[in-house]
Amino acid sequence: MKKKISILGSTGSIGRQALEVIERLQDKFEIIALTGGSNTELLNEQIRNFKPQYAYASDISAIEGAKPLSLEEICANKENDIILIAVSGKIGLRPAITAIKNGIDIALANKETLVMAGDIVMPLARRFGVNIVPVDSEHCAIHQCIKDISQVDKLIITASGGPFLRKTVEEMKNATVEQALAHPRWHMGKKITVDSATLMNKGLEVIEAHHLFGIDYGKIEVVVHPQSIVHSAIEYVDGSVIAQLGLPSMHIPIQYAITYPKRFKGIKSRSFSFSEIARLDFEKPDWDKFKALKLAYSAGEAGGAAPVCLNAANEEAVFAFLKGQIKLFDIVNIVEEMMSKQRNRKNLSIDDVFEIDTEIRAKTNELILKCKESCK
Ligand code: NDP
Ligand code: MG
Repeated sequence: MKKKISILGSTGSIGRQALEVIERLQDKFEIIALTGGSNTELLNEQIRNFKPQYAYASDISAIEGAKPLSLEEICANKENDIILIAVSGKIGLRPAITAIKNGIDIALANKETLVMAGDIVMPLARRFGVNIVPVDSEHCAIHQCIKDISQVDKLIITASGGPFLRKTVEEMKNATVEQALAHPRWHMGKKITVDSATLMNKGLEVIEAHHLFGIDYGKIEVVVHPQSIVHSAIEYVDGSVIAQLGLPSMHIPIQYAITYPKRFKGIKSRSFSFSEIARLDFEKPDWDKFKALKLAYSAGEAGGAAPVCLNAANEEAVFAFLKGQIKLFDIVNIVEEMMSKQRNRKNLSIDDVFEIDTEIRAKTNELILKCKESCK
């Protein structure tokens, strides 16, 4: 029987690659819904090719050939066996909760869902018996390594180091948007690419890992691994280390997450060869150059409103950087200032999370405005 799937964010980097995976596995999947944001031209092309029953776009009147539904309506449709959540930003959170409450498994690319509300989402998933299988390559690697979580002593999350790994602080200070978007290993959406340049992405991934696997922050280590071959690893209590390796391609974790627990022959550019790769390097991250990592650990450890603040302030600052309004280092400085100002509320409901998110975004934009003035 075909697995029935909906893809939220099918016009994005992850969404498009998911459709490439599904195109190869046509006899395994039936697409129920596809969704885009502003790129309705691509969404309509996908509708013609994959014939979903339902679709969503920011302008629903522009959808051709499928019935328009909201993201939450799509996630409430129990016809789905699994929903791939590959929208970017906070818009992934409510649909994720709706899918869980309807008992539908999730392949989760949208890391903001767990950064903002991991304390709500994970217990809810357990209550409704829903699987959340990570698409993020590091978490997907760890998911593949873990047999018994109670015997895991440490998670080791790898980071490519991004485009500024070998650059000086001075060079980073004057980095252009173009330089920040030139990621050496991965071709991703713009927001996550800038986060990879500041290493905020790795910080968000530490918080994501804490929630997905229920491991304390003190037992999550980040290591820089420029070749991006070892996607992450775990150390068991007896000292055994299990790592997941593969050529850097998001097709692999996407396919794993949507076909789990089965595996099928996938899109492989070439076969894996240790001798061709020849060497694997590892080093400690430069905590002074990449302050974002430190901020993320402390936000995660503080819990409650702190990671909501981290995520919201960072997202607004990244957008401002992409518009040329602030410099690269301003992003992390702005996040740090917002973190220092927020009063850390605990035991949040989903409505609290969104209220804090909105408040932080407004205050961050005031700070961005000041920063813009002083940069002139
Ligand atoms: P993209 O920016 O490429 O894609 C985002 C998707 O979300 C697009 O389909 C976009 O539609 C849609 N979207 C954006 N805003 C809205 C909106 N207001 N309403 C409805 N849909 C909207 O991002 P990525 O694919 O790179 O990343 C998606 C998520 O996956 C992020 O959370 C990211 O952190 C995570 N992730 C991505 C990885 C990657 O390799 N790219 C790796 C690991 C995690 P449109 O383009 O039509 O406007
Ligand atoms: Mg990742």
